Amino acid sequence: MHRRWIRRRLPVLVFTFFIILYVDFQLRTSSLPKVAHHPSTRAPERFIQLPAAGAKDAQNPAGNSSSSSSTGGKTRSTDLTGGHSESAHVTQPKLELDDIYIAVKTTGRFHKTRLALLLETWISRTKAHTFIFTDTEDEDLSSEGYNMVVTGCQSDHSQQALSCKMSAEYDGFMASNKRWFCHVDDDNYVNPEALLSLLSAFPQEADIYVGKPSLDKPITAHELLEGNATREVRFWFATGGAGFCLSQRLAEKMAPWASGSQFERTSATIRLPDDCTVGFIVEKRLGISMVHCPFFHSHLENLLLISHRSIPQQVTLSYGIFENKMNSIEVKGSFSKEDDPSRFKTVHCMLYPFTSWCP
Ligand code: UDP
Ligand code: MN
Repeated sequence: MHRRWIRRRLPVLVFTFFIILYVDFQLRTSSLPKVAHHPSTRAPERFIQLPAAGAKDAQNPAGNSSSSSSTGGKTRSTDLTGGHSESAHVTQPKLELDDIYIAVKTTGRFHKTRLALLLETWISRTKAHTFIFTDTEDEDLSSEGYNMVVTGCQSDHSQQALSCKMSAEYDGFMASNKRWFCHVDDDNYVNPEALLSLLSAFPQEADIYVGKPSLDKPITAHELLEGNATREVRFWFATGGAGFCLSQRLAEKMAPWASGSQFERTSATIRLPDDCTVGFIVEKRLGISMVHCPFFHSHLENLLLISHRSIPQQVTLSYGIFENKMNSIEVKGSFSKEDDPSRFKTVHCMLYPFTSWCP
């Protein structure tokens, strides 16, 4: 009798036991904190939309939102929303100027001329997070506390020498733990506040490659394949002579083609210089479109189009700016053309009039 009762009740007991175990497990796991779903860590919609709008303005300063300038066949919204859904869940602290790693490419023979002018002007405001990539030791500069990186690269203007320095810049950034990588040449003036405003306008966890193309259409390269075959590839690239920036997240994704000796290898694959190689890696290897921004400038363009009043918005300027225009503009107490042929001092004094040496 007793045994029959047990035989009849056993399945019910076993079932009940498993139900208890299951409910217990559910209760335990649901009481663990779930960071991704915690309301306080979820950024509001505004977090994504506002920066995207700011970045759009950067691309289109006239504010003509109906303009659809293409970035390699994709629209801008693809650039800014593609692949960064996590940004909705992670609120980054506000970007500060010293979160930006600024790499300046130079060479020994320009230390006393081009570089000296940058040290006196904009680098005086960004010294701690500006890194000078050169090919020649300079005791004077090192002893003054500048971050000098003496690469083992050749000092010429060849594709190989330039890619060698860019490779060192990339590796330097990757070891720094900074949030943005920006490259400039030694004939660029960087406006630090404009740079910070521009980069702050992007979602900080996104894959961003921003700069200005030197051509009005994508470059065509012939990628070297195995067995000496080649393949035609077309992509946009930001001209190194105007400066460009990469977000940390994108720079990390570039590592297989950019870190260590890989950068020069990739450059050799397309037989194009350093800045083209960056564009190739981002657009062709990673499938991410460059963000075209009109606030970067190289000396290869007609800078007469920049008005005196728009200087505070410009992220980089280059030699040859306002070649005629600036001379005719009356800037109170400005330098003569002989004292300031590049006009960098004049620009610096417009932005920072209380600098001790400004007239
Ligand atoms: N550069 C160099 N070695 C040279 C000439 C130039 O490393 O023999 C560097 C220079 O310091 C600059 C960049 O390459 O940062 C571009 O040089 P430049 O402005 O003279 O030429 P561009 O390519 O802009 O016409
Ligand atoms: Mn140049």
